[in-house]
Amino acid sequence: MHNNISIKIIFATLFTLLAAQSTLAQRPPAGFVPPALHPEGVTLGVEQIGANVYALQSSRPPADNAGFVVGDKGVLVIDAHIDANMANQIISAVRTITDKPILYLVNTNGHADHTFGNYAFPDETKIIAHKLTKKMMSPDMDQRKKGSLGMVRGDMSVFELTESRMPDIIFDDFMEVDLGGISVELYHFGAGNTFGDTVVYLPSVKTAWTGNLVLGEGSLPFLLIGDTGGYIQTINKFAATLEINTIIPGHGIPATASIFNRYVDYLRNLSATVAKAHNNNKTLDQTIADNPLEERFSVPDGLSGTDFYRGLHPFNIQKIFLEKKD
Ligand SMILES: [Zn+2]
Repeated sequence: MHNNISIKIIFATLFTLLAAQSTLAQRPPAGFVPPALHPEGVTLGVEQIGANVYALQSSRPPADNAGFVVGDKGVLVIDAHIDANMANQIISAVRTITDKPILYLVNTNGHADHTFGNYAFPDETKIIAHKLTKKMMSPDMDQRKKGSLGMVRGDMSVFELTESRMPDIIFDDFMEVDLGGISVELYHFGAGNTFGDTVVYLPSVKTAWTGNLVLGEGSLPFLLIGDTGGYIQTINKFAATLEINTIIPGHGIPATASIFNRYVDYLRNLSATVAKAHNNNKTLDQTIADNPLEERFSVPDGLSGTDFYRGLHPFNIQKIFLEKKD
């Protein structure tokens, strides 16, 4: 009974979130599992990527990763995490490395799990986001909290103390942040998982933080806002613009540039498959049943959050199906 109620709450809140973001929204298909982002017990491990560049990796993927870069003048943090406790873990991790001020915080997208820690950062920290990310961060926190309950098993206590803190600086396609002796590049290659997806790139170590645009190794793209063609274009532009050694995803384990081909092949292939099913007058349920995830796109067994990653496949089929219907 209790489980049924919490599942209903999760789907109801997820539906609200999706409805707010897409006119094509409908209840997610069977098999879709919201990402388990409840912060309880999650710790962030500091991993040095190169000189002055650090990844913060979640002990329980797909709970969020983050990162920071230290320059002569101060520090830039990548993503604020889901609440003040997690944001304070990020700040403490920075303090194990340097006493310099945290001058900037970048929100790679506007979801709760990337921005609800904003308010825990000091006043001196300027928050940077893409203009469309700022737009998706409505100051109506009640609405944002309710819409985000699915990711924390319906547990409102996670968001109880969270206050709104909006970006101070917005950018369009590109912005360079000079930290003194090291520069951080911010790119918007187009819409992906959200309309304002931001890639944070460190040319010195050829490493990119990708938020939700590219999830971890072995993952599938999450077509949350639909627009399959747009997602493919965004990934292609990303791959063509930057030389990549390492991707630190917003969720999941680090990936290499080979994830670009995986995402593009998967999306192209699925788009063609769903178009064919649609032309043959198949229903959505039939299309999902007829098209299990192909072996070449399989999600590895040992991956933490496997149920979430695998459940993205029926979710993506539904999104593409509804696009074709339009
Ligand atoms: Zn996320």
